[in-house]
Amino acid sequence: MFGSVRLTLPLPSDVAISRLSLSCFVGGRARTNLTMFNLTVAFQRLLVSILVAVSVSDAWSPENLRVDLGIVDSGNTRLIRLRSFQEPNGEAMMVAVDPVRLETSVRVQAGWKVSKDSLSKLDSTAWGRLRREETSLEWKHGGVSRLSGTDRGIALTIDLCPSHKPFDRRVIAGLRRAFGPNSSAIPVAFAVTGSWMRNHEKDLVWLRTLADSGIIAPTWINHTDNHRYKKGVANAKNFLLLPGTDVVAEILGAETEMLEHGIVPSVYFRFPGLVENKALFDQVAATGVLPVGTDAWLAKDQKPGPGSIVLIHGNGNEPKGVKDFLQLLQSKKSGIRQGTWRLEDLRRG
Ligand SMILES: [Zn+2]
Repeated sequence: MFGSVRLTLPLPSDVAISRLSLSCFVGGRARTNLTMFNLTVAFQRLLVSILVAVSVSDAWSPENLRVDLGIVDSGNTRLIRLRSFQEPNGEAMMVAVDPVRLETSVRVQAGWKVSKDSLSKLDSTAWGRLRREETSLEWKHGGVSRLSGTDRGIALTIDLCPSHKPFDRRVIAGLRRAFGPNSSAIPVAFAVTGSWMRNHEKDLVWLRTLADSGIIAPTWINHTDNHRYKKGVANAKNFLLLPGTDVVAEILGAETEMLEHGIVPSVYFRFPGLVENKALFDQVAATGVLPVGTDAWLAKDQKPGPGSIVLIHGNGNEPKGVKDFLQLLQSKKSGIRQGTWRLEDLRRG
């Protein structure tokens, strides 16, 4: 039917992405690529320059972003609507997840039929299976902590909790060195807070540029807006368990910040400090996200094995984890070369 052309939008380094460029995220992954249909190259170039001009002058924000779970269908495609919001012109938009591939997208709601089926209809999908496993897990790992199946590589997750320090770019440099210039996009998951995004605009744009260049394939995990923490309070009562926490506002706040920065939130969530209890876990899961924990927090000397979900901090506050990860890459050099040791995309479950 339509030809499809992928363009990369060369965003200036210190601006938020605009309303126009965001609305072109339909069907896209968490990167500033535009999928356009049936357009001439000349027109595409014109459109890109308009988008860049608009993105410099016009900060965009999703209006009335809210949890709005439902099954939506269009043709043969079935998705889960996770969130609804409005464009400033009133157009109804949604953030949706493919329950099989676990990929999220931002879409116009028009043309999608909301099904009356309950979400339990999706129990046999990857999303349904993970949800079921999570409700039967013990809680200490804050959600799924390993990839499923055997003969798996590891999934790298990098937490970006609030910090005054810049992003620890050694991780990316190490990955590029280890996997070489001809590697396909390296899957990396970033557990990102609203606070970090607000304070590290340049680092965020740098990461997005790496994604646009096909160097990394990022998954953006919701790590809450403010990552609440009170000094002197025991961990088990800290973070989201502090009195006065508005859990849903923390989740939506981080998602708003992602959308404002041209990032599509993934379906994953990570508890700050990996601290939760059953009631909190259920409250978070009720928003449709999949909490993801770890079985290999490197700075705590937890050793990764096949299928591990590895946790390090990229916010400059835990250099030991980064150092341990770089050493891990070194030690796996021959495995990487032979293709027997690899990084996996969290979304492949
Ligand atoms: Zn954190």
